[in-house]
Parts: sequence; C-alpha cells; structure tokens
Amino acid sequence: MRLGLKKGINNCYLIDGSFNNDLSGLQRAIEFLKNQPGQTKCVILSDIHQSDIEEKELYRWLNEILVENQIDTMIGIGEEMIRNASLFSIESEFFKTTNQFLNEKLTENFKNEIILIKGTRSFGFERISNVLSEKTHRTVLEINMDAVTHNLSFYKSKLKDGVKLMVMVKAAAYGSSGFEIANLLQINQVDYLAVAFVDEGVELRKHGIETPIMVMNVAPESFSNILKYNLEPEVYSLGQLKQLIDFINNEEKGIKIHIEIDSGMRRLGFEEKHYDELTTILKENPSIQVVSIYSHLAGADEEKHNDFTKAQVEQFLLLADKIEKALKIHTIRHILNSAGIIRFPEFQLDMIRLGIGLYGFEACQLVQDELRPISTLKTVISQIKNVKKGETIGYSRVGVATQDARIATIDIGYADGFLRAFSNGKISLLVNGKPAPVIGNICMDMCMLDITGIEANEGDEVIVFGKNPSIKELADAIDTIPYEILTNISSRVTRVFYTN
Ligand SMILES: *Cc1c(COP(=O)(O)O)cnc(C)c1O
Repeated sequence: MRLGLKKGINNCYLIDGSFNNDLSGLQRAIEFLKNQPGQTKCVILSDIHQSDIEEKELYRWLNEILVENQIDTMIGIGEEMIRNASLFSIESEFFKTTNQFLNEKLTENFKNEIILIKGTRSFGFERISNVLSEKTHRTVLEINMDAVTHNLSFYKSKLKDGVKLMVMVKAAAYGSSGFEIANLLQINQVDYLAVAFVDEGVELRKHGIETPIMVMNVAPESFSNILKYNLEPEVYSLGQLKQLIDFINNEEKGIKIHIEIDSGMRRLGFEEKHYDELTTILKENPSIQVVSIYSHLAGADEEKHNDFTKAQVEQFLLLADKIEKALKIHTIRHILNSAGIIRFPEFQLDMIRLGIGLYGFEACQLVQDELRPISTLKTVISQIKNVKKGETIGYSRVGVATQDARIATIDIGYADGFLRAFSNGKISLLVNGKPAPVIGNICMDMCMLDITGIEANEGDEVIVFGKNPSIKELADAIDTIPYEILTNISSRVTRVFYTN
C-alpha cells in the first residue's frame, strides 16, 4: 500500500488510496493522517463491505480508530454507513452514493484540512479525489518518505551515545518542501532543525512544527519574528550581536542564540580577534543565552583537505572552550556536516548537522549504497512528432535530426529547474525504461527528447531523475553538484509525498 500526500484545493492536502477489505491498511492510513501536523483532519470513507466481521462491531471499531487518532470529521458514503450512522461519536455526515456527495457537498466547504479519501473500488472515489485536487502542472517531484526515514536511521546509527542530531531543512529541505520533511523529522524526534532564513522557520512553525529551530542568517528586520515564533538565531558578528542586544533589551523575554566561529570557511563567523569583545558583551547581557557554539568545515568530503579539516576542528575547539570558560557555561558544540559524519566520526562532539545525506546523496561517495534516493522528478509527453533527416528542433535551430526521427515534447523546462545547461544531448531522460537524449535547446516550460526507436505515446511518463538517471548523473553531466540540481526545482513543480 502506498500513501501519498498531495495538494488539494483551498489549502487542503489529500491522502488518497483505494480500499480493498484490508482493515489494517485502513488503520495505517488513519494513523498516517493523524501524524500530519496542524490542520483539521477529515476522512471520507465508503462502506467497508467486510463479511467476516459483524457489521455493528465493524463500524464500532472504525469509530474507535477515528477517535483514538483524533480525527475531526468523517464523511461516510454508502448504505452500510448510513445504517450505522448512530455509532459514530465524531462529527460526521452521510451520503448514500458518491454522486449524491458530489452533487450536494460544495467543495468550498473544504478549507485548510487534511483529507483522507478511502473507498472500495465500486464507489469510484477517484472522482472525489479529482474534484478536491489542486489542478496543477503535470510535472511532479515525488518524495519517498520511507527513503527519508531510511537515510535518517542510517546517519543515526553512526552517532555515538548522547550525540545530538540537527537536520538542515534550509531551502525547502534541499528543494523537497520544508514542512513535510520537518514533520517527519519531528516525529522521529531529531533534536534540532536548521533553516537559512527567518521566513523558512516561520513557515515551519505555522505548520505546527515545534522542534527547536536554528536560523543561520538573521537580518535585524526579522528579530521580532524570531521571538514571536520561538526561533533561535545564529550570531556571527559583533555588529549583529549588538543589534540583537538593542532589540532584546526592549523585550520582556530573553533569547537563545548559536554562535558561529569561522575556523577556515571564510564565510560567516567570529574569529579569535573578536574573543575579548564577544565575551565581554555576553557577560553583560544575561538575557542572551548561548546554547551552542559551532563551526563549518570547508572540505570535509575530500581526503586532500584532511589536514586543513583537522586544523579547523582544533581552532574551533580552542576558541569554543575559551568562550565557555569565560562565560562559565556548557554549550552544545558542533562542526560536522554529512560528509564529516562519515569521514571524521571522532569529531562528533555534542551534535552533528545532517544535510544532503538525508536527501539521499552521500557527499563523499564512500557509502552511497547505504542511502536511498528520496525523490523522483517526473513529467509527461505532451506531443510526439516525426521529423525528417536534416530538420532542426527548437530555438536557435541547434538540434538537428541526423536521421528521420521521432521527437517528444515534454512538460518541463528551465523554469521548472531543468537547467538549460542540459540542452543538446547533455543528458538522457527515461521514457518507458529507455534513455532518450535531450535534443535542441531547453525552452522555458518544455523541452524535446529524441525518442527514435522507443515505444511511447503522448501522455506517457518521463523520468527526469530518480534511480535512473540519478541526480548525481545529472549533476556530473553539467559539472555541478547534486545540491544545485535539487534546490533548483521550482515551486511550480507539484510535490507529492508517499510512504510504502
Ligand atoms: C548546509 C549546511 C550544513 C549541511 O551540509 P551538508 O553538506 O548538506 O551535510 C551544515 N552546516 C551548515 C552551517 C550548513 O550551512
């Protein structure tokens, strides 16, 4: 059984699935619904048609499951449902047939809800799901939540006792969509989440995420949201610290901060020369509580930088210790990213910061086989044409048919994040299991594939990346890194989440 979460109308989310006499499957679907954060939870269910269990007992069981999982409302469709209506203690509504439901229940009634739609085949619930789905673009990024859980467990298994885990969910969880991933991480009790900007943190809080969140790049304009949404800023410079103090001195509450030390990345962070002033200011301002001190490694993934990495760690620890001593505090100290976790287990310290590894790419390529790809980017063929040898395909006429060819135009372009650099055969996408090279230049919303010799029809699915081709192959083809491929997938691409 596959459970997916997709976007519905009026800010709803839908969990879809047909139902075939499998009560434990039904129960799992209801539990899956319960585990989605925030929002009102609704189930739309058909008659169960289970002959092994006495009818009343069956519907009493169903009500219990709904109550136990804190489902807010139920819509029951079918005659059995109506017969047993009085057994339901949660808010419920009943319809005799799917048609009656579709005719009488206005879609405007569904707002900001997560809706589980489950019916036996004969009820044709796909029509309900159709009406309630957001009509979107046919290009979708499917995210396998089981693969995310698998990758998380893999990295957890590398942690020594007591080492905390922070997971980076910046840039919409590396392009996959922040809140669904954050929710899974919350359920799995990770200690910290981290985002790049305050807006990203606010978005997670609004969706019901309660896990502590560190924000790496906080501008003074966002200080009030930091407090309002209980976020924890990183502080990286004296200037920023002074601005934060000016702000916090006018507030009732104190604030937790994370101090970044620049040990060689030369990006953000305090240096040795700031030590005196930093500790003096912090001593004078007890409303600022330093919860962690950290640094970032510049080359943890490559052996050739090992000496540099070790020097970074040493310099970091020296300064972190001095700060802790001066302030008479103990903080969470952390320096490892995904690559570091694999290559420098001895530097786990008090916490590690997991990023790309969760999303299925092993940065050092030492244990890639242990991870599972989490996402598949799919699109469809909109039209197929036969072209003659010598004809050109697309803008600037750079794609030339070297023989009579079949060309498929597909629904993805550079505005979706399928970078224009993939033009002219740099990569092949998978059409019905066969590689089809990009021909010509990639357009904004479309591109063309040479599908000569491949059996395919208009409407067929095309795999842009997934198991094959992998994100790594795409990245290598245009000389970039998987991070960039992932984070470029634009927001107009529908995200669909599923678990097996
Ligand atoms: C993004 C980021 C990470 C995670 O890096 P990965 O290579 O994705 O594991 C860790 N720490 C900081 C400060 C980051 O910005």
